[in-house]
Amino acid sequence: MNISVPDILISEVGPRDGLQSVKATMRTADKCQWIDSLVAAGLREIEVCSFVPAKTLPQMADAVEVVRHALTHRGVTVMALVPNRRGAESALKAGVHKLTIPVSASTAHSLANVRKTPEEMVEEVRAIVALRDAMAPSVKVEAGISTAFGCTLQGVVAEEDVVWLAKKCIMAGADESGLSDTTGMANPAQVRRLFDKVRAAIGDKTGAAHMHNTRGLGLANCLAAYDVGVRTFDSSLAGLGGCPYAPGASGNVVTEDLVFMFESMGLNTGVNIERLIAAREFLRVGLPGEPLYGMVPEAGLPKGWTAPKRQHSVVGSAA
Ligand code: ZN
Repeated sequence: MNISVPDILISEVGPRDGLQSVKATMRTADKCQWIDSLVAAGLREIEVCSFVPAKTLPQMADAVEVVRHALTHRGVTVMALVPNRRGAESALKAGVHKLTIPVSASTAHSLANVRKTPEEMVEEVRAIVALRDAMAPSVKVEAGISTAFGCTLQGVVAEEDVVWLAKKCIMAGADESGLSDTTGMANPAQVRRLFDKVRAAIGDKTGAAHMHNTRGLGLANCLAAYDVGVRTFDSSLAGLGGCPYAPGASGNVVTEDLVFMFESMGLNTGVNIERLIAAREFLRVGLPGEPLYGMVPEAGLPKGWTAPKRQHSVVGSAA
């Protein structure tokens, strides 16, 4: 088969990260249609839900149904966020392909978010990996280091703490460890430096860059991460979402703008930007009144703009 391998993997987090920070609860049927439209746009990895108690996040009460629907799409990696063993067990039973565990580098944020210290979360990662090995060995486990670039509660987060934690998570059995700018405090120089340090510690187990646009540096930070070898980026359609436990933080990187940046540079994301913009309609319908962000959808594509040739890879294999 002669299919092109995209240079960049965009991991869409809107159905999880986005929905858990809006007040309204989206209907299951609307979520499914939204996911269908994301798949139709060419997204191949989607974080579709989190497995948390329904009383904590009523928006995620239909997680099993949403996963079941997402699994009907072949070739799409269906991801779920799990904060603990119980969540992981439910997610594995539901049949997800990949688990992502939020592990905060800031003790204050970790306690607020999951009521555990970072060290205790490493043990949770170990337990989830054991569960994965027993229940579904092919499922990938990612530890996302949150507040990696700063914390609204603690302030500065030491880079050594982040590198230490990423290394501990890999030693505990996680397949990859990425870095999240949960509170939108990162700058490009810091992103380059920290990803370099993490790569020096865990090599090709370095995972995704999850950047926020809280202070307008989301795309600049993604580009900085790209420059030092990151090839997987989390983002959210229309910039929906943020972290409910980080006061003042809002705004994931907008998938539409991120795809536009990379494709304009001649890098293949595998995503069709027109279809991506069309997918916003399902958000408008499913979450009436919710603000939708994005510069490219507002301005439109430039006259004469074309996506890079799908058969031709500009850069080498993904790092
Ligand atoms: Zn986020």
